[in-house]
Amino acid sequence: MFDYLVVGSGLYGAIFACEANKKGKKVLVIDKRPNIGGNIYTEKIEGINVHKYGAHIFHTNNKKVWEYVNEYATFNRFTNSPVANYKGELFSLPFNMYTFNKMWGVVTPEEAMAKIEEQRKEIKGEPTNLEEQAISLVGRDIYEKLIKGYTEKQWGRDCKDLPSFIIKRLPVRLTFDNNYFNALYQGIPVGGYTKMIENMLDGIEVRLNVDYLENKEELDKLAEKVVYTGPIDAYFDYKLGYLEYRSVRFENELLDKPNFQGNAAVNYTDRETPWTRIIEHKWFEFGKDEEGNDLPKTYISREYSSEWKPGDEPYYPVNDEKNSNLYAEYKELAEKEENVIFGGRLGEYKYYDMDATVASVLNKCNEVL
Ligand code: UDP
Repeated sequence: MFDYLVVGSGLYGAIFACEANKKGKKVLVIDKRPNIGGNIYTEKIEGINVHKYGAHIFHTNNKKVWEYVNEYATFNRFTNSPVANYKGELFSLPFNMYTFNKMWGVVTPEEAMAKIEEQRKEIKGEPTNLEEQAISLVGRDIYEKLIKGYTEKQWGRDCKDLPSFIIKRLPVRLTFDNNYFNALYQGIPVGGYTKMIENMLDGIEVRLNVDYLENKEELDKLAEKVVYTGPIDAYFDYKLGYLEYRSVRFENELLDKPNFQGNAAVNYTDRETPWTRIIEHKWFEFGKDEEGNDLPKTYISREYSSEWKPGDEPYYPVNDEKNSNLYAEYKELAEKEENVIFGGRLGEYKYYDMDATVASVLNKCNEVL
């Protein structure tokens, strides 16, 4: 008999298992995929650690979280600086003096501020949706060229129908600083995320290709308690209705050349280009293998965003009002499941970054272990 059955070997599940194991609990981890790591899984292809389920850049302001993940991986000095491509015109991200200079020709922070001030006047009162929030942060020009198309492709919804918090993730700076995140600590685990998860799961029994919901009754008998990191609505067989998710599809290509786009991420911010961004994975590790040799080939992923439908992988919860209300109802049901902990992006239906996931699972461990 196990103390805990952990469903899902992503970041939340792996850390819970690791901490429970440290406390002497008997833990079984299962995953329906053939690999561990959930959506942070990386796979080595031609010497390149490919982020198979989308790019993940670890960043945090939380020293405890940073120290925790550093126990399981060595992080490199990667700093995310995506480039925006709007119909062939390139802009620096996030929105900073380089962006303002390219957009308006302004040179000083005062000039940039004056431009933004002039353009944000059209928004009266508190912004009520993403469009208003974006214009009030950076003005209409940047909204039209760098935000609107990208956001509508990523979410499949009009910016007027999206919550404003999504855009508050992006810094706006009056300095020349292309660091996408406002984070004290940032990096990519050397050797890939899979190795980090392997280290967390060291000494713990893991069974892959096991679908929990299909074999629930039988699997529940194996443990006292369950930690469930899958979609909360699926757990309840969608009985209150479907929560909406965005899914992502990747078109991958191995190219016989050393450099395709010169950066890890290029966002295509116009509406017409069907993909949202192209990731060139080698640049997460500076184009080198672990011995420091230049890699001769490159691997790219074009990312297409789509509405989730049953059978797809869910990636992003859609935290608008309708879905938040439905989630609240599922959460009530979840609270009645006495021996089950629901956690992570899908279990809590929250647009968690990795560091928030780590903080959340460590809190949970403190509470229950
Ligand atoms: N965003 C944008 N233009 C960009 C990049 C991001 O407008 O070039 C906005 C957009 O609203 C998006 C949000 O910022 O939904 C978060 O994007 P990000 O790429 O950071 O999300 P991730 O997929 O990395 O979680």
